Amino acid sequence: MSMSEWKPVIGLEIHAELLTESKMFSACPVVDSVEAAPNTAVDPVSLGLPGTLPVINRQALEYAMMVGLALNCDIPDVNQFARKSYFYPDLPKGYQISQYDRPLCINGWLDIDVTPEEGEAYSKRIRIRRAHLEEDTGKLTHEGSVSLVDYNRAGVPLLEIVTEPDIHSAEEAEAFGRTLRAILQYVGVNNGDMSKGVLRMEPNISVMHRDDSGFRERTEVKNLNSIRNVYRAIKAEVERQIKLWESGEEVKRATLGWDEDKQRLVIQRYKESADEYRYFPEPDLPIVEVSRVWVESVRSQLPELPEAKRERLERELGLTHYDATVLCLDKAVADYFEAVLKAGAKPKAAANWILGSLFSVMNAAGIEREDIGQTRISAEAFAELITLVENGTINKGTGLDVLNAMWETGQSPAQIVAEKGLAQVSDTSAISGVVAEVLAANEAVIQRYLAGEDKLFGALMGQCMKALKGKGNPAVVTELLKRELDSRR
Ligand code: ADP
Ligand code: MG
Repeated sequence: MSMSEWKPVIGLEIHAELLTESKMFSACPVVDSVEAAPNTAVDPVSLGLPGTLPVINRQALEYAMMVGLALNCDIPDVNQFARKSYFYPDLPKGYQISQYDRPLCINGWLDIDVTPEEGEAYSKRIRIRRAHLEEDTGKLTHEGSVSLVDYNRAGVPLLEIVTEPDIHSAEEAEAFGRTLRAILQYVGVNNGDMSKGVLRMEPNISVMHRDDSGFRERTEVKNLNSIRNVYRAIKAEVERQIKLWESGEEVKRATLGWDEDKQRLVIQRYKESADEYRYFPEPDLPIVEVSRVWVESVRSQLPELPEAKRERLERELGLTHYDATVLCLDKAVADYFEAVLKAGAKPKAAANWILGSLFSVMNAAGIEREDIGQTRISAEAFAELITLVENGTINKGTGLDVLNAMWETGQSPAQIVAEKGLAQVSDTSAISGVVAEVLAANEAVIQRYLAGEDKLFGALMGQCMKALKGKGNPAVVTELLKRELDSRR
């Protein structure tokens, strides 16, 4: 047997908190569960005190429906909440209100673009089994021998999205994760911040041998705080499972975690038997009837989604498929791009400058793409830089230097160009002088060039640009240099 005889099989369970003002079943406010002081946003309902009664948050239902519709799901006429019983210190009632056999959304799908490690990029459809509403639990913090509990998060509306096991590589899981996160951000119901746990992705992983006719045992990985770690954990777990099967051992059903510091999987617990949650219909809540009129009115509130925006950028602005795809992948990047256009930059130039130069500066500084709007380089300043290059005030090379200076100092491009005297030299008489000097010092090179060594033009060009301290207008230098050389033929 060998690695190539095995295929990963992955299904994702995604939990997304919904950005409502109040909790799933009460008027208690929703706060940032990382920033807010512990236990400052609690009420009798979210604490599960005896005698309290839940009331369904209509906004949460509508937000969840919007996501379901964006994921091409059907919204059945009726959905119902159910009690999922288990005991845990972060679950004060002793049960979680969730949905079970009558979820809000079913049978959806999402198309993803995948760039595999080897081979060509391809598109693929991942089926969504269901998306249902539930309430989040509180949060435990373990400090030495004590555990602290914060109930701010208890009762926050949570949408659980479950895919079919249609994902067959870490790259596909990553593409799905990014595409889904973009949809949540575009719909505006979740900011996609996995490091804060607002969005969580748990892969179920197994491997299939090419002779298998059915699935093998699977494991589940929890506590992944970035899409990158979802990718890493899947790679590691697939490798572990193949090794076990190949050495004649078995994969046991287990819950795993990812150790961020050591960059490796840890087995949290083996599951001897299936969980027994004793689901039953929630007696304190009515069933939810969803009319077609309601579904259509929610659908009409959907904003432009990433796929539609990508198509529009290609069609209206003439961007390439690749550029449009990357620009739309993060809502923050798409917003930034549109702000740069609004500030006066031309679309293709703006796309090139963002995808090429700005991304590499951000990358070098370790800034995530989704934080593009929070850097020192405002969309207005960036548009100004692009325009300075486009109208020939500075050349592209100087533009990159100015970008770096903007990144360091937060100054405007015009200020930097003025202070450092970077404005491009387009003045033909100044450039002619430099060309004459360079040619006078390179008689041998000129002879070789005239004898047919075309590539020496670049060397002469380089010397002229150097003499102009990089500020020469490349088009003007090229033209004058060519003219001079041609006159010697
Ligand atoms: P459970 O009810 O135990 O949570 P489900 O059948 O609902 O299990 O599946 C949960 C998730 O696991 C889904 O995303 C599904 O696609 C995925 N899944 C199911 N079987 C497998 C398998 N053999 N390998 C990988 N993922 C799987
Ligand atoms: Mg499950």
